[in-house]
Amino acid sequence: MRTGIKQSNCIRCGTCCKKGGPSFHLEDKRLIEKGIILSKYIYTIREGEPVFDNVQGRFQIATTDIIKIKGKKDSWTCIFFDEDSNNCKIYKNRPIECRALKCWDTEELERIYSKNRLTRKDLLSKMKGLWDLVEDHQARCSYKKIKGFVKELDTDKRNKAIEGILDIIQYDIHLRPLLAEKAGVNPDMIDFLFGRPLTETIKMYDLQVKHKGDRYYLKPFSEDRFDPIL
Ligand code: SF4
Repeated sequence: MRTGIKQSNCIRCGTCCKKGGPSFHLEDKRLIEKGIILSKYIYTIREGEPVFDNVQGRFQIATTDIIKIKGKKDSWTCIFFDEDSNNCKIYKNRPIECRALKCWDTEELERIYSKNRLTRKDLLSKMKGLWDLVEDHQARCSYKKIKGFVKELDTDKRNKAIEGILDIIQYDIHLRPLLAEKAGVNPDMIDFLFGRPLTETIKMYDLQVKHKGDRYYLKPFSEDRFDPIL
C-alpha cells in the first residue's frame, strides 16, 4: 500500500545487509587491527579483479584491493546479520560504509565508497614473512597476467596461454592448504590473504578448471571456444 510518506530513517528491514557485507576503508582499520572484526570473517577482492560494483550497477576492474566482510554460506547476506532479530551483531562497531548507507538517500555512500579503501598492505606490510608471501602470490597470480593470457585464447598462441593460466591456477591451488598445514594459518583467513580462489574467479572469464587425478585442465563454458587440453 502506498502511503505517500517518504522514508527518512532506517526501519531495520535488513535489505541492505542481505545484499552483501560492506567494503573496508582506512577509517575501519582499527576494527581489524584490534580484533573487533576477525580476519577470518573478511576476504579480499584483489587489484585487477573484475568485480560487480553495486553502486554503479555494473562490472568494473578493482583498482586497488577491496577488503569485504564475508557473506553467510551460499548467500550474499552479511555474516554479521542476525536474521532472527533483523539486527547487526556488531552494530556499534559497524564499518563506515554501513554508517553511511541510507537506502532512501545514497548520496553519502556514493561520496565515500571508492575513497580510502583499506588494502592488505595497510594491514600486513609490517608482518615481514607473511607479507612477502602475499606480494609473491600477487605478482605470480595477478589478474593482469590472467587477462593477458585470456586475450590470447582466441589466437594462435592458445596453447601457451592455456599453459600460462594453468600454471597460475595450480600455484594458487597448492599454496592455500600449504599455508594452513605448514604455517598454522587459520584456513578461514586464506581468502583474506590471497583473495578468492582462482578456481572460482576464473569463471568470470568463461572458463572452468577441471582435474583428472593430479592433472588440471581448462575447459571453456562455451563448448566451441577451444578443446580442453587433457
Ligand atoms: S556489518 Fe552490520 S550493518 Fe553492516 S552489512 Fe553487516 S550486518 Fe549490516
